[in-house]
Amino acid sequence: MIRYQIGSRHPASHYFDVTISIEHPDPTGQALRLPNWIPGSYMIRDFARNLLDLRAADVNGMVSVEQIDKSNWRAVPCEGELTLSYRVYANDLSVRAAHLDHNHGYYNGSSVFLEVLGHAEQPCEVQIERPQGEDCADWQVATSLGRKLAEPYEFGLYEALDYDDLIDHPVEMGCFSRIAFEACGVAHDIILSGRFDCDEARLADDLRTICEHHIRFFGEPAPMDYYQFQVLVVGEGYGGLEHRASTSLLAKRDSLPKPGQLEIDDDYRDFLGLCSHEYFHTWNVKRIKPEVYRPYDLQSEVYTDLLWAFEGITSYYDDLALLRCGLIDAQSYLELFAQTLTRVRRGCGRLRQSAAESSFNTWTKFYKQDENAANAIVSYYAKGCLIAACIDLKLRALSDGAKSLDDVMRQLWQDFQRDGRGVEREGIQQLVSDIAGVDLSAFLDELIYGTGDLPLAGLLTEAGIGVLQRVAKNSQEKGGKTASDKLPAVDLGAALKDGDNGLAVLRVAEEGSLQTAGLSAGDVIIAVDGLKLNLAKIDNRLLRASPGDVLRIHAFRRDELNQFDVTLQAALEDTFVLDVADAERAKWSWLGV
Ligand SMILES: [Zn+2]
Repeated sequence: MIRYQIGSRHPASHYFDVTISIEHPDPTGQALRLPNWIPGSYMIRDFARNLLDLRAADVNGMVSVEQIDKSNWRAVPCEGELTLSYRVYANDLSVRAAHLDHNHGYYNGSSVFLEVLGHAEQPCEVQIERPQGEDCADWQVATSLGRKLAEPYEFGLYEALDYDDLIDHPVEMGCFSRIAFEACGVAHDIILSGRFDCDEARLADDLRTICEHHIRFFGEPAPMDYYQFQVLVVGEGYGGLEHRASTSLLAKRDSLPKPGQLEIDDDYRDFLGLCSHEYFHTWNVKRIKPEVYRPYDLQSEVYTDLLWAFEGITSYYDDLALLRCGLIDAQSYLELFAQTLTRVRRGCGRLRQSAAESSFNTWTKFYKQDENAANAIVSYYAKGCLIAACIDLKLRALSDGAKSLDDVMRQLWQDFQRDGRGVEREGIQQLVSDIAGVDLSAFLDELIYGTGDLPLAGLLTEAGIGVLQRVAKNSQEKGGKTASDKLPAVDLGAALKDGDNGLAVLRVAEEGSLQTAGLSAGDVIIAVDGLKLNLAKIDNRLLRASPGDVLRIHAFRRDELNQFDVTLQAALEDTFVLDVADAERAKWSWLGV
């Protein structure tokens, strides 16, 4: 039995103190390693860079440990039980790593627990100790990890089936709010940490509705007997990471429903969409997963073409479920869907990278986006969501509404339950054709491996949805809403932001007005036609301009002033607005409500 122990002698310094007791270490020398990435977040993060003061001892005293590479160690052969101790610096306030201070603690096992090679398949225990100091006297523990000798929500002894299980149940500790509810007979907790003002009963009601939808969508019983939403509330922030029986979420304070708030505003709708997304992953990616993830190689990159399906289909159902549950109406759903259409349409990267390539290159491109990303890549989340819609609408159209993407997902779930096998590269395409009853491989190949625009306008029209494509009101508009104001005829082809010293150029579109004139991301615009402008004023200025007009722009690049004559190009119709054009047809063929 491997026994881990985690605590902290001084939480304010952000250090977790970890010990590992190995009763029967490898007689030839015990090997140990730490993951370099965490499942669900496809980037090499080198968690070992935060590990220090590694020491080992046996009955005779200190045992030397050789470091083999950035994340692998080997202790020399020893006598009897081997005990390791080390510290982990935990100051990453995200859902991917670990964070500790005098207010709360949070960790993913992949950041703090060394894997004991040769023992990873065996059950292990973890003693979660209360961090030292008065600040932590009232702290509790929230995790979906199994309890062995610990009262609910208290420090004590927890257990895991194996190392994979140990690192798939993040742990939150601190003074948090706990809201319990039941969905389809499964106990759920919402753990809210941080400072917030929230209508907790409302939140529990809405999340229960979503959870029941997803459980019934795949079919009862749910694959877990307990589930926890761990929400860290912050001023600004957004993120989520899925686990087998929990999710860690980072949410901004304003996204929680305020007491007395009746409507679902845009921020709360985003938060519910995030919860829906991570919960859907309980099936799609935590259980149904690419074959290459079985098991995960957490030492190096694992390549798959399929993230468009595991993230994209999940992104499709996250908002669609809010509609199906009755939490939002059809117009609100169409607004969100139109925003995704707009997001994909706005980058010429969509014409360069397919959804499969985007998935494959997640390690170096999607997770390492720079200022040129919109010109170079497409998001497998956003395009994957649109591909899911294409497949759904195509199946519905071919079968007179009898078949849909729902059948594909349910079949994937049944296949997983039957043999636990992973999804092969062509597995989903094959299944879609099987369910359609006709060979859709050419249609699907174009969606997944092609770089042309998706055939959504036709599919949506056929489903009773009106598709309007127009120019954007201004550079901040996300799309989805009808425009009553006058629209500009020209566009700078750039994302700008008000700054202290001028207008910062965040991104330029390839061959757009600014890039053609020589401006670049990183430039700071200080004057347009000799006048100081902010974002609102430049939007106003563009409303009065025509294609071919020239603006004289002064901008700093580093500390050097440059002058550019920018010929304004015609604005692109890259903003989508959808509405229900034929209510009966939309209800029957797609939206269902
Ligand atoms: Zn996701």
